[in-house]
Amino acid sequence: MRPYPIKCVSIVIPVYNEEDSLPELLRRTAAACAQLNHEYEIVLVDDGSRDNSAQMLEDAASAENSPFVAVILNRNYGQHAAIMAGFEQCKGDVVITLDADLQNPPEEIPRLVAEAEKGFDVVGTVRGNRQDSALRRWPSKLINLAVQRSTGVAMSDYGCMLRAYRRTIIDAMLACRERSTFIPILANSFARHTSEIVVAHAEREHGDSKYSPMRLINLMFDLITCMTTTPLRLLSIVGFAMAGLGVLFAVALIVLRLAFGAGWAGDGMFVLFAVLFVFTGGQFIGMGLLGEYLGRMYSDVRARPRFFIEKVLRSHPAAPAPAVTVDGLSSSTSSDQVLS
Ligand code: UDP
Ligand code: MG
Repeated sequence: MRPYPIKCVSIVIPVYNEEDSLPELLRRTAAACAQLNHEYEIVLVDDGSRDNSAQMLEDAASAENSPFVAVILNRNYGQHAAIMAGFEQCKGDVVITLDADLQNPPEEIPRLVAEAEKGFDVVGTVRGNRQDSALRRWPSKLINLAVQRSTGVAMSDYGCMLRAYRRTIIDAMLACRERSTFIPILANSFARHTSEIVVAHAEREHGDSKYSPMRLINLMFDLITCMTTTPLRLLSIVGFAMAGLGVLFAVALIVLRLAFGAGWAGDGMFVLFAVLFVFTGGQFIGMGLLGEYLGRMYSDVRARPRFFIEKVLRSHPAAPAPAVTVDGLSSSTSSDQVLS
């Protein structure tokens, strides 16, 4: 792993109805960034807030020499879509995401940048003193374990959005065409070197969590479908198991019938069960097969980059090649987009 030279740092913050937190957020984030020895920009994405947030962001961005960039979405698309919109508009070599509710202290930004500078593709954070209820803590432990298995990159806290991503990872994520996604996991599927640092985690001071139980369930499904199509495959496995058991049951019934006579088998009722198991199992296998096709279509439809070239080294450069290629898309196309 080599040190990564950083010219510019971008901070991306999704904002949804956070007018009470905004003044302190802007002040503390700007103060933390001022300590960096790099250029920086703070991209705030208004995710269709119904309060005064959008106006406050516009005001902050329109001040002269303002480090703030306001990206206003026309309606509410959800936290991860908002962050993606921010990614599209930022130009940093390292991009740091952060929640607007001040649960992630902006003061940690310089530490994240220092860690990314060492050469890590993704720098995650672990909440040292997690302030959420046990009801939110346990599911997230389970999820961390599942993700660890599926992406192969070990990280212990996916719920904390205070994270740093290298430019190449951002470009790879922008090249993904899927609509619902879970950014920390998507990033890890492209990362080689990852690191985690422990940060403080505060309680939400203003307003309530923007995630109702229903939206949390939705987020959980985004997270699962973002990393795997295994649940579809489970259908066939269940089907095979069921049909297999049904056949075993039938064989056992025949043997017992021969040994103990017709009365023992409940006059054929148990045979019905055995037949039922086999047929139900068959149905599950069929559904699982459908699932297999669906899973393949799903991966084609979301069109994630098939590969991700970090560098190409040639002793005789044939043609001027783009520095970084994501499945045929040069990184310059996405980073040269309009920067407001
Ligand atoms: N957020 C957003 N769009 C949404 C919901 C949330 O941009 O539809 C933002 C919100 O403003 C905050 C971050 O996402 O900056 C995390 O939201 P919240 O604190 O409500 O989530 P929790 O910490 O409860 O998981
Ligand atoms: Mg929060």
